[in-house]
Amino acid sequence: MAIRVVKVARPEKMSFGESVYLLEIVKGLGVTMRHFLRNMARQENIPTIEYPEVRRVMPARFRGCHRLMKRPGGAPRCVACYMCATACPAKCITIVAGESPDPKIEKYPVRFDIDMLRCVFCGQCVEACPVDAIRMDTGWYTMPENTREKLIYTIDMLLEK
Ligand code: SF4
Ligand code: SF4
Repeated sequence: MAIRVVKVARPEKMSFGESVYLLEIVKGLGVTMRHFLRNMARQENIPTIEYPEVRRVMPARFRGCHRLMKRPGGAPRCVACYMCATACPAKCITIVAGESPDPKIEKYPVRFDIDMLRCVFCGQCVEACPVDAIRMDTGWYTMPENTREKLIYTIDMLLEK
């Protein structure tokens, strides 16, 4: 069996100047200074924002946190049909239906929770609703909380948004 000799290309040895990366550090600082001065001169073009004091305005079709729509009298428009909960792939909507005191309405949600920690913001619940009772047009995209319980949005929270 023939032996194959493979030549491995070794990098050339760096000089002392190259090994301390002095020139590269100066080049890097030059790039930083160039961006700094350009941003100072044209602040309106800076792509970053001073979050959370300044919040980005999201486009109208952006899927943000949910809200429940109200009827003219303030009652929830939701008729507790469970279509949204059935369509939800994350199974994060919990509804408990009750008999409505209004004879024109069959049911209303006694409880309507969305577990935002499980929600994947797919919008299936909005698509499934037959009465346009749930929307994701709040434009709200951040929801930092310090406990898991606070990220279960209740019916009152959803009606307020
Ligand atoms: S956006 Fe998707 S995951 Fe979130 S509650 Fe609606 S259907 Fe469920
Ligand atoms: S939000 Fe819409 S789909 Fe969901 S239970 Fe209420 S009426 Fe039905």
